[in-house]
Amino acid sequence: MSFNSLGLSDALLKAINKKGYDTPSPIQQKAIPPILEGKDVLASAQTGTGKTAGFTLPLLQILSEGTTKRHRPVRALILTPTRELAAQIFENVKEYSEFLDIKSAVIFGGVNQKPQAATLKRGVDVLVATPGRLLDLCNQNILSLASVEIFVLDEADRMLDMGFVRDIERIIKLIPKKRQNLMFSATFSKDIKKLANGILTYPVSVEA
Ligand code: AMP
Repeated sequence: MSFNSLGLSDALLKAINKKGYDTPSPIQQKAIPPILEGKDVLASAQTGTGKTAGFTLPLLQILSEGTTKRHRPVRALILTPTRELAAQIFENVKEYSEFLDIKSAVIFGGVNQKPQAATLKRGVDVLVATPGRLLDLCNQNILSLASVEIFVLDEADRMLDMGFVRDIERIIKLIPKKRQNLMFSATFSKDIKKLANGILTYPVSVEA
């Protein structure tokens, strides 16, 4: 299977080509088609499987097909447990969206919030975030999640291990009920299944 046959736009194929990828990885082959169809997806995938491109490429395609609102409210929210993961995902989002009219940003704790607030004010289509700082900025009305269309929960098992379950529940209450959900986890405990049940609607399950 080739990236061409997955139904991705020329702008995304150009970015993929620039990254030097030849063929989609198994998780990409399985996850990209249902995501492009607008379905909720529950994916079992470890780091290193190419899962970041697996959710980022179709997410960017969906956003680029829609209308960009003038003030650029956040339309896709990618939640991940650590600052390092957030920074890595953001790098990927930037690379894959190079030939698209899409703005992205990353926010995480442990650093001054002012530059993050200034970036958000200028408008962001795709936001990569860790839970604590995201809630802080929402609580201060610096950030609104009312226009989120696609919600990605990355490394869900690590989120639970790190005690983020309450924060995730709070964040879910701030995003519209009608949205597309993508959840990635390396393991599937009872707690993860419970979390998935609360977030996803008739998900397609895929495995790397
Ligand atoms: P991830 O699992 O998302 O952290 O990705 C692991 C690594 O694989 C990253 O360095 C990606 O740039 C790379 N990668 C992702 N998709 C592909 C692909 N289709 N072909 C080759 N490398 C890839």
